[in-house]
Amino acid sequence: MSANDRILLSTPHMSGNEQKYINEAFETNWIAPLGPNVDLFEKEISEYVGSKGAAAISSGTAGIHLALDLLGVKSGDTVFCSSLTFIASANPILYCGAIPVFIDSERESWNMSPVALEKAFKEAEETNTLPKAVIVVNLYGQSADMDPIQEICNRYNVPIVEDAAESLGATYKDKMSGTIGKYGIFSFNGNKIITTSGGGMLVSDDTEALSRARFLATQARDQAPHYQHSKMGYNYRMSNILAGVGRAQLEVLDERVNARREVFDRYKIAFSEIDAIEMMPEAEFGRSTRWLTALTINPEKTTIKPMDLINYLNEHNIEARPVWKPLHLQPLFDGINYFTHGEESISDYLFYNGVCLPSGSNMTVEQQQRVIEQVKKCFVSESAKI
Ligand SMILES: *Cc1c(COP(=O)(O)O)cnc(C)c1O
Repeated sequence: MSANDRILLSTPHMSGNEQKYINEAFETNWIAPLGPNVDLFEKEISEYVGSKGAAAISSGTAGIHLALDLLGVKSGDTVFCSSLTFIASANPILYCGAIPVFIDSERESWNMSPVALEKAFKEAEETNTLPKAVIVVNLYGQSADMDPIQEICNRYNVPIVEDAAESLGATYKDKMSGTIGKYGIFSFNGNKIITTSGGGMLVSDDTEALSRARFLATQARDQAPHYQHSKMGYNYRMSNILAGVGRAQLEVLDERVNARREVFDRYKIAFSEIDAIEMMPEAEFGRSTRWLTALTINPEKTTIKPMDLINYLNEHNIEARPVWKPLHLQPLFDGINYFTHGEESISDYLFYNGVCLPSGSNMTVEQQQRVIEQVKKCFVSESAKI
């Protein structure tokens, strides 16, 4: 690898053990969306996070869809969802024909604001449109503040789906992220903290519901020698080969979390001298995996905008990206209801001022140094212009 190779945001980081599990699958000819790796990966994930069970599936998105289906979300129902997130959190609401309502973030965690959630529930109660579910997203490796969120949802008797796609390995108080809601989902897409190239996991303490999820994920095939179906299903199971990759990846998850946190800490120390840069906070209620290092550029302290920095880094062969564009600002969701934390929308602020930097656990210290130098140069060159 040469000194100027492109540095990417987050790339797969194999442990070296993956091939062993793949070979086992080949040797036993378990090349199917079922088999021993699938069963064991489910068991190992549920043991790791401390849930009663887990169902391995083809993607995190499929997991959210299955969770909503299990909760009986139907056409015309309302579902609340964090606004500051990737589109995959909310697309399954549309698959069900339901109507999303978006909830703002709070500053401490960048995740769902309990204040905004309370406002949304009050209005929904008045208009008789209480939601069937609340999708709470744990962004960039950090849990949302689940206690107050859960208290509000319990009061209205509405279940939580925890979109923990980006936060496998993070904690909230003494629990693992993804295990607090009725259902939790993880993603093993190529850019996530561990990967199966593509895949996901649905976790819950309701093992009967998970059996039902497996049934729905295999075309809802009834028990009969002939192919009989009495309910609409999906083709959402994980392949036994990919589950093998996942098993090897899970073995090194804690190392990956530590590496990503070290990446974040190096950025934090290096940027402490740049007044305008504010690192994404780590809320005191839990440990973030720092899946992506995210920061905001204070517009009162510099004229540099996120896209200036992103373009500057791109010219130096470094990938950086804005923070997720909030879903209430997406053309797809034009006219959809949105509840803010305060007078101003926090997710808008984070989007307009936020940047994500390369954060892979396989990034070398030298590569990170290159990123740091270019960020510093960008800010120095700008202040020279003023
Ligand atoms: C990646 C991601 C998903 C979707 O996971 P896939 O496995 O790609 O379907 C859902 N929500 C968030 C917040 C994500 O980052």
